[in-house]
Amino acid sequence: MNDWVHLTDRVALLTPSVETDRPGLGYIRGSKASAAVDGGNSVKHTRLFLEHLQKEKFPVPTFTFLTHWHWDHIFGLGVMDNWIVASEETKRYMLPLQDQDLEKEIMESDYQLKNEFVDAFDVALRMPSITYKERCVFDLGGLTVLTQLVESDHTTDCSVVFIPEEKILFIGDCLYCGSERGQYYLDRLRYLTLMKTLLHFPAELYLDSHRQPITRARLTATLEKVTRIAEASIEYPDVAEALRFLQMQNGFEADDEISFFLKAFENGEQRKPRY
Ligand SMILES: [Zn+2]
Repeated sequence: MNDWVHLTDRVALLTPSVETDRPGLGYIRGSKASAAVDGGNSVKHTRLFLEHLQKEKFPVPTFTFLTHWHWDHIFGLGVMDNWIVASEETKRYMLPLQDQDLEKEIMESDYQLKNEFVDAFDVALRMPSITYKERCVFDLGGLTVLTQLVESDHTTDCSVVFIPEEKILFIGDCLYCGSERGQYYLDRLRYLTLMKTLLHFPAELYLDSHRQPITRARLTATLEKVTRIAEASIEYPDVAEALRFLQMQNGFEADDEISFFLKAFENGEQRKPRY
């Protein structure tokens, strides 16, 4: 939980913690400049990140790249005084937050993030100063950062951050479902396309903001499994029948993951407009 891990010589990670909804924070160190991936879920969180950099005698990040606008990824941004890089879409979501009573909203909610602020509501927002429409590339000195929007149901502004020299892709929350009024959903085609898009990056390690790092082999296997699940859900719109089919035809063991995807795909279908 919130461990400081060296993934390669030039990429480090402050690992996520579920209890207070802290996402993983990335650190990328080029010879001329350095960068962070995501801005922390509170002032405390980002300060912890900076403490690790100080211990290592690493420079404060010149840039912070944002994977998307969700609160847990941006509430610590004000701790640093650097360049924040985000998609235009992410900035569009962030601007209205400046006029919102976020403390009231969070304290009255049942979000996991609330646990981060048991002692004090320490949020410091700052807006992006460099924006891109679809993608942009930064040369940090011997190390490249490519950030690019991807299509995801989680939110319309999901970006991934690729470091080709290190074969690492930060994927933020893009593999998570969308949710509306307590119901979670995934569009089958969008989800499979997204997984293929992620695999098109020649990465060996995929860093999800809230889960364990995913190897290329594991993501490939998951794509295969989810493809079978999606096919079954087209053939059998009824979740129980689709599950039976997967067990009989594909020899799948019924597990929570399969049930989750079948339900999310079913909800995704129900959201589509009917003509
Ligand atoms: Zn999110």
